[in-house]
Amino acid sequence: MKKTLGPTRCLAAAASAMTATLVGITLGLAQPARAAEVTQTADPAIAAAVRNITAAHVQADIDKLVSFGTRSTLSAQDPASIAAGRGIGAAREWLKSQFEAYSKECGGCLEVKTDEFVQPVGPRIPQPTTLTNVYAVLKGKDPEAAQRVVLVTGHYDSRRTDVLDPTGDAPGANDDASGAAVSLESARALSKLKFRATIIFLTVAGEEQGLNGSKHFAQMAKQAGWNIEAVLNDDIVGGDKSPGQDAKIVRVFSEGLPSAADEKQLRQIRGLGGESDSTSREVARYITEVGGAYSPGVKPLLVFSLDRYLRGGDHSAFNDQGYAAVRFTEYRENFNHQHQDLRTENGVEYGDTLKFVDFDYVARVARLNALTLAALASAPAPPAAVKVITTNLDNNTTLTWGASDGASGYEVVWRDTSAPNWEHVKSVGDTTTTTLDISKDNVIFAVRAVDKAGHRSLPVVPVPER
Ligand SMILES: [Zn+2]
Repeated sequence: MKKTLGPTRCLAAAASAMTATLVGITLGLAQPARAAEVTQTADPAIAAAVRNITAAHVQADIDKLVSFGTRSTLSAQDPASIAAGRGIGAAREWLKSQFEAYSKECGGCLEVKTDEFVQPVGPRIPQPTTLTNVYAVLKGKDPEAAQRVVLVTGHYDSRRTDVLDPTGDAPGANDDASGAAVSLESARALSKLKFRATIIFLTVAGEEQGLNGSKHFAQMAKQAGWNIEAVLNDDIVGGDKSPGQDAKIVRVFSEGLPSAADEKQLRQIRGLGGESDSTSREVARYITEVGGAYSPGVKPLLVFSLDRYLRGGDHSAFNDQGYAAVRFTEYRENFNHQHQDLRTENGVEYGDTLKFVDFDYVARVARLNALTLAALASAPAPPAAVKVITTNLDNNTTLTWGASDGASGYEVVWRDTSAPNWEHVKSVGDTTTTTLDISKDNVIFAVRAVDKAGHRSLPVVPVPER
């Protein structure tokens, strides 16, 4: 399926050409040669696997997570409470058992692991508290490519109005059992396939207390030198069924200036006009292309901002460690249904309960996530050391790059500096250098690697080489 990413400029050019003719003057507006549209190619095996993600499974997952009463990070995790099925300990054990069950179905293809640590006392942690992130690893089939990782995450902890209340009911159906369900469903569907790169399906604790689980996990990844290419964080993807919701749209937030950039890097970004080309933003654009290729029933609305006003999320913990990470959130949130004790006041219902969650919507968002993970994990490595040669002052653009593992060719993509998404693509074959008759001063370029089946890597924007 094809997708039009940037017709506006061509229509505008055509319109001005027409105006010029109408008044009988030829302004010599040369219509630029129409380059190919920037798309991803749908892979039938991936499409088939992702069709197994269903609203019924999503609903079963969210029902179960809500059934633990509270999943406050401060709630019970002793053996008796786990046996009784109440508190975050019971939720953790159930998540582990789900991942293990999926692994059994694929002949042990998933490595199910926990990242357990003690969070010291802090503003929202009254006493040292054991936190456990639960995750499953689907190792890439090729040993070298398996070093590359893509990751999906949602937080399984919940909260009440008082974030320090460890005992009262905190169902957290939308925030964020929905996101945990996206991780679970992605794992269940994608574990039926084998990928070039590694996929990690993560569920974290401690989000509501201060992103503690994701901070610990991201730091661990950084210290271990993990090459995580993309993090998809799903938080509040329940599609709250209040008026004004658009169940065909999911927002995708991405940072502009990378939070991990140092002064020198920030100077370079300013100098090159790179404010909208963080690796996180390239992931966001990639999600748009995947959505266009597979039509999962929900469209990503790219929001060029780290997060919503006054709010934060687990993706920023990964951004802080220098990883590309984006946040998926429903189109319109109902704040009466988040972080609220269950009650009715003046006829208004408060609380994050099952009745407000649109399970079909969560399934569509899960499909978009799984498709993105699968596309990235099937793709060759993004080209390394992409450079634009600036030895001479001229109106051409020469790009060079290093060969990518798994690539059979490369494509140059570009867009107007004011355009949100990549607009043009040119296949340049199996080479590591090319020269285009387009000025590097007028557009933003990037290079991406392609394999024989048409899987595309993330594009990489060049740095100048004198
Ligand atoms: Zn949340």
